[in-house]
Amino acid sequence: MEDLALKEQSPTGSCRFCGSTRLSPVADLGAQVPANAFVAPDRVDRVEARYPLRTVVCHDCWLVELDHVVPPESIFRDYAYLSSYSPSWLRHAERFVDAAVARFGLGRDSLVLEIASNDGYLLQYVVARGIPALGIEPAENVAALARAKDIPTEVAFFDESTAASLRARGLSADLIVANNVLAHVPAPGSLVAGLPAVLSAEGVVSVEVPHLQRLLEGAEFDTIYHEHYSYFSLGFLQRLFRTHGLRVFDVEHLATHGGSLRVFACHQASRHVTQGSVAETVEAELAAGLETRETYDRFGEQVLRVRRDLLAFLEGARRGGKSVVGYGAAAKGNTLLNYCGLGVDDITYVVDMNPLKQNQMLPQSRIPVLAPERLAATKPDYVLILPWNLRDEIAESMSHVRDWGGRFVVAVPRLEVL
Ligand SMILES: [Zn+2]
Repeated sequence: MEDLALKEQSPTGSCRFCGSTRLSPVADLGAQVPANAFVAPDRVDRVEARYPLRTVVCHDCWLVELDHVVPPESIFRDYAYLSSYSPSWLRHAERFVDAAVARFGLGRDSLVLEIASNDGYLLQYVVARGIPALGIEPAENVAALARAKDIPTEVAFFDESTAASLRARGLSADLIVANNVLAHVPAPGSLVAGLPAVLSAEGVVSVEVPHLQRLLEGAEFDTIYHEHYSYFSLGFLQRLFRTHGLRVFDVEHLATHGGSLRVFACHQASRHVTQGSVAETVEAELAAGLETRETYDRFGEQVLRVRRDLLAFLEGARRGGKSVVGYGAAAKGNTLLNYCGLGVDDITYVVDMNPLKQNQMLPQSRIPVLAPERLAATKPDYVLILPWNLRDEIAESMSHVRDWGGRFVVAVPRLEVL
């Protein structure tokens, strides 16, 4: 009976990790334009391609995944995302390097390999400490920026065949870093499969991913977008690594991206002792129902409630003659706006500090992005903070909004007027 019920509700397709067809829906966010496809003024008459944005959960391995994969080349990018643009991200990277160097005793005879090394935002701190480093970065122009900073970088997607060719050249890394990249590859197994070949006998793999448990608990559905193919629990990652001969031996909980995991893994037979944090985290995930279908059904209901409440708030504002604008043209804002079907009639404009985004329009909703100075010029009644993870920081730095009686609003995890 259970199988039949699943089949009726599951979209076509199979799990990208284990191949199971026992999938059930988690959240259906409709057909959306990729969240980073900003519309330049000279492209207003172009039609934007929309793709389904639906997540499903696999009842055999409990991976949460998109059920429709947009080919990476279709995800429009007219500006490169450069990690070095964010000062807080740089501090995060430097602290990580310091801690890893101390804990794993890295030095001049070691090698640090980073997968998706971007512009060298992290490896610069490795190189500065005199430790040999190599970055693997798929984007040619981004890799060139790293090389200009004297950070050895090769242009490649990391998978089993890339790993085999590095191995053939004698490469063996003592630390492999893969931060916020596992969710971006359509099949996470293809990246993990390459790790053992380039990891030294006592080497360590460090992976950071947003934590599925936090996504579910915080109703953070707006962190779902086309470029994030998978959403991970530690329980799933343990199975993924084990499949490829690796053992998770420690885990840390981070505040980044609404709540992330930093997972440490090594060869099965390595001397690294498995810490209590691993079993504790997996037990907490099971207690939170991460391997129970009802948890995902409940999440789907929460997502619907966020939309209902935001639409009711906007309708109330309209009836009361109040103006509403947005703050922060982040990807998660686009997921929310487009799921709710909003446009300029609902949110007049969105302000963002990044000059690359200003004077463009948000994908699909076509809401214009303006400089933050616009707020003081038009004195809106409500400012909807789209990157809710920065709500306190934004409300404080933009506190002059309160001078004219303006109020801040967040929609996730529940509608709140601050
Ligand atoms: Zn599966």
